[in-house]
Amino acid sequence: MSVKVVKFGGSSLADANQIKKAADIIKSDPERRFVVPSAPGKRFSEDIKVTDMLYACYEKASLGENFEQDFQNIKNRYNDIIAGLGLDFSLDKEFEDIKSHLATAGKEYAASRGEFLNGKIIAAYLGFEFIDAADVIVFSDEGVMLRKETRAKLRERLKDVESAVIPGFYGKSLSGVVRTFSRGGSDVTGSLVARALHASVYENWTDVSGVLVADPRVVDSPVVIPVITYKELRELSYMGFSVLHEDAIFPVRTVGIPINIKNTNKPEDAGTLIVADNDAEEVSLRTITGIAGKKGFCAVNMEKAMMNSEVGFVRDVLNVFADMGILVEHMPSGIDTLSVIADADALKGKEEQLLSELRKAVNPDALEIEPDIALLAVVGRGMRKTRGTAARIFASLAHARINVKMIDQGSSELNVIVGVNEHDLHQAIRCIYDAFVSSTLV
Ligand code: ASP
Repeated sequence: MSVKVVKFGGSSLADANQIKKAADIIKSDPERRFVVPSAPGKRFSEDIKVTDMLYACYEKASLGENFEQDFQNIKNRYNDIIAGLGLDFSLDKEFEDIKSHLATAGKEYAASRGEFLNGKIIAAYLGFEFIDAADVIVFSDEGVMLRKETRAKLRERLKDVESAVIPGFYGKSLSGVVRTFSRGGSDVTGSLVARALHASVYENWTDVSGVLVADPRVVDSPVVIPVITYKELRELSYMGFSVLHEDAIFPVRTVGIPINIKNTNKPEDAGTLIVADNDAEEVSLRTITGIAGKKGFCAVNMEKAMMNSEVGFVRDVLNVFADMGILVEHMPSGIDTLSVIADADALKGKEEQLLSELRKAVNPDALEIEPDIALLAVVGRGMRKTRGTAARIFASLAHARINVKMIDQGSSELNVIVGVNEHDLHQAIRCIYDAFVSSTLV
């Protein structure tokens, strides 16, 4: 039988009611045999995630302060869930054990207990085996997850297992210390388990019905992207889309296992399917897949007569940036002009040094740093096959009287990057959305 690995995020498991929904989803499909839970998340917007409660509790414990009440609040979250599920089950032994180790076993150990305890409850409720992630997810002593070792351990341990719950977010180092991924890391655990089991799909259950075409804080009720390729997602994530933990893509991508982002509160919605390039269906009628934007860039503009015939000019400019450890994002150029777009934070405090190094290196006629640049990425595998996409993008920006400062189209024709002033960014996203998406909705 083929296997589906299902990961549920914190809001999908925030209380007994949510866990019941998740369990119904799991039980409705016998292929959903391996479950990776997060710790209980927020039940309402001002609520505190259990992971954050654990970090706070650890802080006090490690300083020798009294953390009795904080720990009690965490116990209450779990005991409420156990009672709400009607389980005849107790975590008292685990609570005692955690409490006695809290001050000494490290911050990551403390944080990991959110998933550990939730996993125990969910396994008991589902009647699935509980497998401690510390036994199957391997980290180096420096805290880097070791792929090969992890895959081997997972395969060995899961070989004859019918169904199991494996908590997300943590593992154990070679010398036996509990380590965690960075925040949101349960996504990575799910991906590793899916890869090790050759799952047919990695389902990532959350509280939205998939990846939206644009940020809902900018565009009113944007539509969901039905199918997106890993590459498109990478482009959009780089520009600010937060869908999955960055490291969650790689394990499944290498073997082409699709990821399905689904909504626990609306399981009937198809969600978004993330697939390899060649598995993407016919290009959608919208041509573009998503629009993302990010503020916080600046442009270092330089001009020099006959620049275009000066051998090594660009190399010398790039060397200055490299020597100063500043990442270059884009480099639009004209005949005698060159701009380097860089992250404004990376440049902060180094402006004068950069200008003087550039003067020394290439002696430009004019040199300035232009602040407040935003980059907008219009991403879509459909662009390659459709004529007139760029014309539509720029016509809609011109129509909205938005000044375009830079244009860059990657050689893959997967996206068009446009530089605009920061204060124009949201308006620019809205007008491109209208041109490509609203116009297709009847
Ligand atoms: N519970 C962890 C966090 O809040 C990991 C996760 O949910 O993926 O970041």
